[in-house]
Amino acid sequence: MPFKHPALPRTSHWTPLALLVLATFALLLGARSAPVLPQYEHYHQFADQRTWLGIPHIADVLSNLPFAIMGVWGLLCLRRVQHHAALARPVVHGCGLFFAGLVATALGSGYYHWMPNDAGLLLDRLGMVLPFAGLLGLWAYEWWPRRSALSAAHAGYGVAVGALLLGAIALWSWYAHGDLLLWVLLQGGGMVALLLACKPTPGHAECAGWRVAWHWVVLAYTLAKLCEWGDHLLWHALDGWVAGHTLKHVCAAAAAWPVVQALQSVMQNARHLKETAQ
Ligand SMILES: [Zn+2]
Repeated sequence: MPFKHPALPRTSHWTPLALLVLATFALLLGARSAPVLPQYEHYHQFADQRTWLGIPHIADVLSNLPFAIMGVWGLLCLRRVQHHAALARPVVHGCGLFFAGLVATALGSGYYHWMPNDAGLLLDRLGMVLPFAGLLGLWAYEWWPRRSALSAAHAGYGVAVGALLLGAIALWSWYAHGDLLLWVLLQGGGMVALLLACKPTPGHAECAGWRVAWHWVVLAYTLAKLCEWGDHLLWHALDGWVAGHTLKHVCAAAAAWPVVQALQSVMQNARHLKETAQ
């Protein structure tokens, strides 16, 4: 059954859209005029170089499994929820892109860590753009003012498509011109956007229990970035047991948990409604 928003009075202010477009242009212009940010010279030299069962860098390769598990689990949850509850279309599509993107990330990142080089890293990062775009689309849909002239659904789709395009431009800028700045800004900007959504949002109750605990997403992703930066530091601190980059994969995959949780709460909500109706 297609989800319908309750009829809300709409005002004709376009402020959120204008701000979003302005922020995007500012990002592109800023990145163009700023000095080139090259990738760290020894980026492919990860701390954990162990080979086991013929698999090079086995810890960094196998630690991509949580991405695949979360992705498949999320897709299965999404399918089950759709049978029992009326989920808004933008949520269905956003979740689909997010969870399918996690599976793509597991494949791309696993391939890259098997044989780390720029071409593999491009695949890794292309895979990452998909869940990132799905997540930002979900965020925009949830956060968007319901009284805005532009519907929350259009905002969700617009932000997701925008993130896909910007991600592709950022990766082209890095791979073809050696400039990583746009990629860094895109990731940082995305996290700031998610931080803005950590407060209760208007209209979330419309989505039949749908509510992502964005603060856990941000926390897990921030931890993942810290582990990534501390790859060698953690490797030495933990006596060569596990490296920061391996932990980064696990923490980043854990950032998907609140989205799975939101789907499960929709499911519980639908069950509860069914039980009370009987
Ligand atoms: Zn990695």
